[in-house]
Amino acid sequence: MSSYSVASIDLSAVRHNFKRVKQAASQAKTVVVVKANAYGHGMLEISQALSEADGYAVARLDEAIALRDSGIKKTILILTGFHSVEEAQACAEYDLAAVLHNDEQLDCLNKTRLSRPISIWLKINTGMNRLGIDVGSLAHFSRELTLSENICQPVKLMTHLACADDMSNAATEDQIAVFDKAIKGLSEQNPIGEQSIANSAGLLGWSSVQRDWVRPGIMLYGGNPFCDKTAADVELEPVMTLRSKVIALRTIQKGQSVGYGASWTATKTCRIATLGIGYGDGYPRHAKTGTPVLISGQRVPLVGRVSMDSINVDVTELDSVEVMDEAILWGKGLPIDEIANSSSTISYDLMCGVTDRVPRVYAE
Ligand SMILES: *Cc1c(COP(=O)(O)O)cnc(C)c1O
Repeated sequence: MSSYSVASIDLSAVRHNFKRVKQAASQAKTVVVVKANAYGHGMLEISQALSEADGYAVARLDEAIALRDSGIKKTILILTGFHSVEEAQACAEYDLAAVLHNDEQLDCLNKTRLSRPISIWLKINTGMNRLGIDVGSLAHFSRELTLSENICQPVKLMTHLACADDMSNAATEDQIAVFDKAIKGLSEQNPIGEQSIANSAGLLGWSSVQRDWVRPGIMLYGGNPFCDKTAADVELEPVMTLRSKVIALRTIQKGQSVGYGASWTATKTCRIATLGIGYGDGYPRHAKTGTPVLISGQRVPLVGRVSMDSINVDVTELDSVEVMDEAILWGKGLPIDEIANSSSTISYDLMCGVTDRVPRVYAE
């Protein structure tokens, strides 16, 4: 194989993590979030592996169509919905459910006659101020949607939590209270549809938000959903293991530097291994000196700047290392959240950032 770098995807780990969803939210149905190519893991492969899910959620229409075309018959939900009459028609044609979060989307529905009614998840802004209609316009939206022949009745109701990763943050309780009050007002006029609030952190951290549907993403892939725990603390297994190889070895003397900008200088004689992976593969360019890499099961520190095609690690402490030895950048034995912390980012970003240059290899 011409590529030194490979992302091994463990499908039994993704199924284990799905079981954790079912244990934590046993009364709820699950839409598994497979947007952004299943957080870099491969949308079709992950969706097939999670055939027990009740539905699938993606961010964009083209992702939803690709999933439907792959043969999936269950609910497919587009988390940003449609943005034109044509896109709404495509939702009808492919039997896709859509989040509805703004006036323009309601106008699209009111302007056309769809080939068949579509399922709508009406998103209420309860404090995140990203997507969602304001609580004050809920009655209006509900009235309009109840009259629409373009949608399946009753409409589902959802919101999204901004701070669920931090269990000591009171904002989550506030958002839940806003949601419940809004829905109570509505239910006095109409029968109300199913509800959905929780992402991974929400469903693991707050049983009161599990409701009818949960929407786990990161926990399926073994990323830590919380700011102050580890993935292992909540019994999640890593799904992606990013591997590469040693492609060069050299010894440098005290005072010699490594890499662009000569940003790291040896304070004693050192053995340096160069690995065939860099930011062109999705290894984070901002990984700090000291970020751990696993070689032969031992941790060795990254030194100097990350290049496009390579990084350098100090292997002085290893008994033996040879060109073509394997290195693990994150995954089994090296939690991705550690690498994310050391690169001032989050596991989601690292997973999504693995580029097409890195083949995904699937195993049970
Ligand atoms: C991405 C997304 C999720 C999944 O969130 P995780 O933190 O990955 O579990 C759930 N709901 C919505 C609306 C999303 O955009």
